[in-house]
Amino acid sequence: MSDEFDLVTIGAGSGGVAASRRAAAHGAKVAIIEARRVGGTCVLRGCVPKKLLMYAAQFGDAFAESRGYGWSLDSAPRFEMARWAAAKAAETARLEGVYRQLLAGSGVELVEGRGRIVGSGIVEVGKRILKARHILVATGGAPVIDSIPGIEACATSDDLLDLQELPASAAVIGSGFIAAEFASMLARLGAKVTMAYRAELPLRGFDEMLRRAAAELLNAAGVELLPHAAPKAVRRTAGGFELEFARGTREFPWVLNATGRRPNSAGLGPLAIGPDGAVKVDEHLRTSVERVWAIGDVTNRKNLTPVAIAEGRALADSLFGPTPRQVDLGRVASAVFTIPPLASIGPTEEEAVAAGHGLKVFEADFRPMKTAFVGGSERTRMKLLVDAANDCVLAVSMAGTDAPEIVQSLAVALSAGATKADFDRTIAVHPTAAEEFVLMREVTRRQVAKEPEPSLGEP
Ligand code: NDP
Repeated sequence: MSDEFDLVTIGAGSGGVAASRRAAAHGAKVAIIEARRVGGTCVLRGCVPKKLLMYAAQFGDAFAESRGYGWSLDSAPRFEMARWAAAKAAETARLEGVYRQLLAGSGVELVEGRGRIVGSGIVEVGKRILKARHILVATGGAPVIDSIPGIEACATSDDLLDLQELPASAAVIGSGFIAAEFASMLARLGAKVTMAYRAELPLRGFDEMLRRAAAELLNAAGVELLPHAAPKAVRRTAGGFELEFARGTREFPWVLNATGRRPNSAGLGPLAIGPDGAVKVDEHLRTSVERVWAIGDVTNRKNLTPVAIAEGRALADSLFGPTPRQVDLGRVASAVFTIPPLASIGPTEEEAVAAGHGLKVFEADFRPMKTAFVGGSERTRMKLLVDAANDCVLAVSMAGTDAPEIVQSLAVALSAGATKADFDRTIAVHPTAAEEFVLMREVTRRQVAKEPEPSLGEP
């Protein structure tokens, strides 16, 4: 087989596979290089297995609530991590097979090994040399294991998803996506969880309403929250790990390091790398080297699977299709799969005001029907940010059951530029939680736009 290609992609995760298949659909001759398993973080070590664990964890609540709905459970339900792990391994293996078939079916050649750019348009994989008109770097990211002295001995989310036994008690370090999601799941599955983090509230970067809701739901699940308490050091002990805090030490049998992820940019070749380890790209996804492009987590911009896929397809369309195009990362929805989950699209209230928007803020806060019926204290919270100047809905946030599904649908309305008047004349689907978004009539508060900061050097 000839080793000359129109496109050689390094990394067969969601972004790399999407870009390669789209390029092949445009008639390009494509090879994709993968050093581990085909499917990448999302399919094998991230979104998919994480969500399968979330479903497992949700059953705990379902069993408890079912009694209030008239069910009797003859014996206490019991969760066996090993059975879940075996089923998960089978499912991810199936999905890996699907990915391999998709590549083969699209005419993309899979080359197994580690790819390295060794010259202009030349990629080395073991002993094989591939010549490429274009090279795409889509190598993703990996957990940070040097954030705190000694933390390299702790488990990462990769290890958690392969556990054969649920730890009886666990510490989670960090309060980002991975920390919040796994603290919530571990607690629902029956572990005693402590979450230690350096901020006041979890989920830095999210709207304050969601951050407060996250703290509240974790607390309600029995998670011990330790804000302003990032450990200074981690030490191995006979029984597990000792975490050294400013105010003393604590011991845990098992610790999850959830202190972030870093781009897989080492050893790729002569590309400009930023201080965060990211491959630097411009708005066209062009790296510092001619005809070498990069997408997804390795560029450390918006580290979300759909973003990597969208970037990959846009790049393939631009390089090999009739119409070059770019992806707009300005307004991307995201969700945190805690139980219940959180989701949002658009700026936070603070960001919107700082960006010069006067706001009408609409909020709803209620007990959802399903859990209220059985005396539960769970609350659903919703927020709309409306631009006071033109009635445009700038942002939607929700904490509560089905928040990711609801926000996904509303994201279409926001992409289409929906106004509050559009929301108001939409007839509700009843009884749902989502209907609250079209029934918000009273302004909760108004925010005055902030004057833009004067630029440096202005008198
Ligand atoms: P995040 O960047 O979301 O969170 C990292 C956490 O680690 C923060 O709480 C941060 O604290 C903390 N931290 C970093 N360094 C230190 C340190 N030295 N000491 C103590 N704490 C520290 O990373 P995640 O790993 O949770 O997720 C990585 C990315 O993966 C996310 O940004 C997201 O894009 C993606 N992801 C998306 C998911 C989804 O869509 N549902 C799920 C999981 C991941 P501080 O806030 O104080 O800086």
